[in-house]
Amino acid sequence: MKLVLASQNKGKLKEMQAILNELGVEVVLQSDLGLSVDVEETGTTFAENSRLKAQAVMEASGLPAIADDSGLCVDALNGAPGVYSARYGGVEGDVARYQLLLQNLRGAMSRTAHFQTAIVCCFPNGDVLETEGRCDGTIAYAPQGEGGFGYDPIFFVPSMRKTFAQLTAEEKNTISHRGVALRAFAGELKKYLEKN
Ligand code: IMP
Repeated sequence: MKLVLASQNKGKLKEMQAILNELGVEVVLQSDLGLSVDVEETGTTFAENSRLKAQAVMEASGLPAIADDSGLCVDALNGAPGVYSARYGGVEGDVARYQLLLQNLRGAMSRTAHFQTAIVCCFPNGDVLETEGRCDGTIAYAPQGEGGFGYDPIFFVPSMRKTFAQLTAEEKNTISHRGVALRAFAGELKKYLEKN
């Protein structure tokens, strides 16, 4: 079976391939099929945005399509930046965005937060598989670590006593929202393929 990934991100392709190839599923980017479907993420939840992307790419390619959508939700900011994580505050760049978040959290009583991912796969016959992953942590008082991307330097994982940016890629993958959602998706897809 061939699955089209509704993303331009080669890093995500590698992550998905590593886990889904074991099920005999080939994952390709939409650009590998000569497609460039650009979907506006107008949803108010991660699942809605994933569904919009997967549905559009499934319709354009005629093949099952998978999409993911993630973000950071900070409790004291009523869940912000949430689905707006990539464009928080309208500022440019990862560092400016996490600095803004640190500033907005100054004096807050609570610094609890979680990363969340929704993965949706839409099949041409109308079937839909959906999984979620979550990783709980707190927002550090200052950035720490050089690895990762986005909000990684300020997301502290108490069980590891490190920020996401201080973990190796493998360590992060075992606990991250995306890793959890992806492994759950692999389980759902396996069951789906056995039934169909
Ligand atoms: P996407 O839906 O995976 O493209 O993620 C949207 C935005 O959420 C990214 O641009 C980052 O700002 C943030 N984000 C998602 N996952 C992570 C992560 O694992 N570490 C840090 N930031 C993340």
